[in-house]
Amino acid sequence: MSLKHGWLARIMPSFSQDIEHGGDLEKEYRFFSRSLFAIILVLVLTPLMIISMLSHYQYRQLLQKKELAQIVLNVEQGESTIERFVSKLQSIIKFVGRDDRYQELLDPQALETLFSRLQREYPDFVDLEIIDARGISRSYVGPYQLKGREYGDQTWYRQVLLKGVYISTVFSGFRRVPHFVIAVSRRHPRQPGSWVLRVTIDGNTLQRYVDTIRTSSVDDIFLVDGDQKVLTRPQKYGLVGQHSAFAEAVESTSYDLSSIVAEHEVLLQQHIAITVKKIQGGERILHVAVDLKETPWRLVMVKELYMHGEAWFYFQLRLFSILFCCVVVAIFIILRLSNGITSYIRESDRKRQLFLAEAEHANKLASIGRLAAGVAHEINNPLSIINQKTGLVLDYFEMSGVFDHKEAMEEALDGIQKSVNRCKTITHRLLGFARHTEVESEEIDLNLLLEEVVAFLAKEATYNQICIDYALDQELERIVSDRGQLQQVLLNIVNNAIDAIGSNGRIILGSRQKDRGQVVVTIADNGGGMSREVQQRIFDPFFTTKETGKGTGLGLSITYGIVEKLGGTIRVESEVGAGTCFEITLPVGRGQAG
Ligand code: ADP
Repeated sequence: MSLKHGWLARIMPSFSQDIEHGGDLEKEYRFFSRSLFAIILVLVLTPLMIISMLSHYQYRQLLQKKELAQIVLNVEQGESTIERFVSKLQSIIKFVGRDDRYQELLDPQALETLFSRLQREYPDFVDLEIIDARGISRSYVGPYQLKGREYGDQTWYRQVLLKGVYISTVFSGFRRVPHFVIAVSRRHPRQPGSWVLRVTIDGNTLQRYVDTIRTSSVDDIFLVDGDQKVLTRPQKYGLVGQHSAFAEAVESTSYDLSSIVAEHEVLLQQHIAITVKKIQGGERILHVAVDLKETPWRLVMVKELYMHGEAWFYFQLRLFSILFCCVVVAIFIILRLSNGITSYIRESDRKRQLFLAEAEHANKLASIGRLAAGVAHEINNPLSIINQKTGLVLDYFEMSGVFDHKEAMEEALDGIQKSVNRCKTITHRLLGFARHTEVESEEIDLNLLLEEVVAFLAKEATYNQICIDYALDQELERIVSDRGQLQQVLLNIVNNAIDAIGSNGRIILGSRQKDRGQVVVTIADNGGGMSREVQQRIFDPFFTTKETGKGTGLGLSITYGIVEKLGGTIRVESEVGAGTCFEITLPVGRGQAG
């Protein structure tokens, strides 16, 4: 891993450091995997979240605008409906009370006839009253006794004289039923001043009209007067005759129309008051109100703020479902990815570690080889001299007669010669270990070679009651390699197997074809096996577990060197008490390791 800089260095596992400091490498890999997972997750989820938030915001804006345009349209329609109704009533009253009809209408009979004709058409008319220029009721038809009443100092009377028409708020008064009044002033035909025609209309008329403009796109619709007193029945917010719930709204913010106006020209009607109010209980509502022309009435439409409808709900549901699915899929993929990358790094670290260990081992072997060659060379000469001189002394003994302790001395000299010979074997092996002989190549039938090697050791095996079996692949490809060196390799291993068994056991020699031009030779025994610690050291020079004088500890290290040189690999599997299996893989073609 060469990318160990900055923040990356902090999360990357470092197996070399770990080996030096004896840390827990697995813990580092886990930390790396988790950090990688977190980093990729943040990188993937951040844009996803931003996009989701943006679309959430955009769609909300869109719905808000649509919703606002809709409610304003409703208010305008309601406004024109009620205004049309009021102006129609005014026209009728003005028509009935034409200027010149004053005298005629003073006649109770004539007023009665007119009233009953009117009531047939408009049953909500409650009474009709003619008031003279001094403000005194001169003629009345209706359920009460109002004739003779004086209105001269009343505000409404002054207003009607001033403006020509007066429309009252809806009130109960002494009649105890909600009603409103429309009064028109007419010019006196013969005298100066004006007379007034006053009509009382049942409040339910207004209620019916308000009901006709009720739609499902608003939550409530009703009329209020200038004092915010509710005139028609609200469905949700408040009661008739009481103050509107929004008169005391906790918060009242003017609605920002700037962005909406451009798109919905209808909102340019500035007489429409749009506010956002927070009512008791924390609910935020959109409050749209418009003053109705020539009346003291105000039309109010109320809607719970922003999209409590299905469109918004389903949009949010869809958005959050998609988001949730994306997050789950992302987590799954990133988890797999980070685990995959970590496994890949772990595997390449393991291979690197193995490679380094092998290189170290090869290096060690090379140094020991050089050392051994020097030592062997130096020792060989004195050994030859000792051998030669011992032989000479023995020859002298043979030529001389009998003398004291002759036999014991001969035995001692024999012992010296044996030891010298053993030393020679060791130095010979040492030189073999160190010698860089060229590999001689020839075509070899490995099955045949195995049988030849066994032939050397057959006697020893039979003597120790060891049975040697074969599991050979008869179709095995012939390989090009060094016969002599392969013989040495196989001899070393089979010899060790015989030693490990001792007596009574079994050795199986196998061969098989491996893919990509490689063959495998296996030597398995059911001897004592090796512990893990022993297995780790068997290829080290001079490592032996055999008793002094028996093992040199060079067999397997030489074997290792030869197999490497021939371009192959050697592997061991062993279990204490169960046995050992050596597996040698060799290339089919000529292979000499550099
Ligand atoms: P030596 O045979 O002189 O001891 P080797 O290098 O050939 O040296 O072997 C090293 C050690 O490996 C042996 O001493 C023995 O402990 C172990 N060994 C090798 N082959 C086997 C085997 N088949 N079963 C058990 N131990 C083995």
